[in-house]
Amino acid sequence: MEKRIPISEVPAHAGKTVVVSGWVQARRDHGKLIFIDVRDRSGLLQVVFTLDNKDMQKRADQLRPEWVVSVTGMVNQRPKGMENSCIATGMVELLARDLIILAKAHTPPFAIDADGKDVNEELRLKYRYLDLRRQRMARNIIMRHETVLFMRNWLSKQGFIEIETPILTKSTPEGARDYVVPSRLYQGNFYALPQSPQQYKQLLMVAGFERYFQIARCFRDEDPRGDRQPEFTQLDVEMSFVQREDVMAVIEPLCIDMVKTLYPEKTIQEIPFPRMSYQEAMGKYHSDKPDLRKNKNDPDVLAFVWIVDFPFFKKVEKGNASHPEALAEGWTFTHNPFSAPKPEHMDWLMHKQNIGDILTTQYDLALNGCELGGGSIRNHTPEALQKVFEIMGYEQERIVRNFGHMLEAFSYGAPPHGGIALGLDRLLMLLHHEQNIREVMAFPKTGDARDPMMNSPSEIMQEQWKELGIELKRKNKKT
Ligand code: ASP
Repeated sequence: MEKRIPISEVPAHAGKTVVVSGWVQARRDHGKLIFIDVRDRSGLLQVVFTLDNKDMQKRADQLRPEWVVSVTGMVNQRPKGMENSCIATGMVELLARDLIILAKAHTPPFAIDADGKDVNEELRLKYRYLDLRRQRMARNIIMRHETVLFMRNWLSKQGFIEIETPILTKSTPEGARDYVVPSRLYQGNFYALPQSPQQYKQLLMVAGFERYFQIARCFRDEDPRGDRQPEFTQLDVEMSFVQREDVMAVIEPLCIDMVKTLYPEKTIQEIPFPRMSYQEAMGKYHSDKPDLRKNKNDPDVLAFVWIVDFPFFKKVEKGNASHPEALAEGWTFTHNPFSAPKPEHMDWLMHKQNIGDILTTQYDLALNGCELGGGSIRNHTPEALQKVFEIMGYEQERIVRNFGHMLEAFSYGAPPHGGIALGLDRLLMLLHHEQNIREVMAFPKTGDARDPMMNSPSEIMQEQWKELGIELKRKNKKT
């Protein structure tokens, strides 16, 4: 038997017999001739069934959209004038000699040969495996792979190594609410899913790895808000013996090379990326992620901009629930408690003076009006890190309970270090002109954090509660 070839390779086999396998995208019955379009990951191909083989014709007659078939046939040039320039294999067709039906299919709940933008999203997510069959979604997911692969290879060539950090970690206030996981072995204790690998990547610097990266999954239990997802992916990077410029000098060429290689149709508006202080951005654009595109209607222009010189601390008013890290009232960090102040403001931090004026080494990268990511140079001495928590009003006992491991690690010789994290989902969303990050994730949750396909979150069994030593107090359901 012939070996199956991908549909994209069929035109190169004109005049030969080949086998293709895939899904029936469409069937057109022209009486004596039946045409089907077969789709595999690589493309779409027109297959023709003639009347010479009655038995096969009968089977071809049963075919319906999304049935899975294998067809053996002769690759023929299409007659002049019958070519289809809309598909890559449009100059040929397959004259079927044999047809095997590998699987039948129910009628799908929505059309697969369209972009799907007008289909109810709940339905798309319930049948995500069908939704992902559409060309737009398949391309998004395949390009996500290409992007990640490019980043991995690029960073590896620059001496970075990828290190996995735990998913079961410790709950520490980092800006958002943690997802927590009860421990069966240590009842009453909980792991937390990481909001980011921040602390681990810094500990890897203490461990001497110098250049780390990870395609890292992050978890944040935030209230449903537009484009937020409970879990998302970052390109996470950390480097030792560096200053702000060194981190930028890695991330900027990485972005440029990636766009030029994988998205050559795009134009980067300005290279090197412009830089703007937070104050200037707020003053001129009323945004810390300004959209600098000169012509906002051109979808293929990418306007990257670095925003720098953010205030380190901000005042939180009483009862502000969106800052779980902050005490009831007082100072909290604007970005990351581990950031160092700008070198010229280190004295202020150490003496807890002019707190509102202290600027951080934080740098954010914005793209077309979206925050792509950010990072900072860190406080690598225990004394400086301790001061940040003191300014936030943390009691010594709480500092030790939450961050004692970091302070201790830094007391064993920490190199100066800094890093950054870029939101991979957001980057892909912008590169593919998608309206939300769910369009570039294989299995996202709904906007209100559910998975209608797996039906999660879901209840667990009584035995599981017991094993965990947890009792559920059901709130009386209001009627
Ligand atoms: N961990 C930070 C974040 O997730 C990024 C960084 O400072 O490297 O936003």
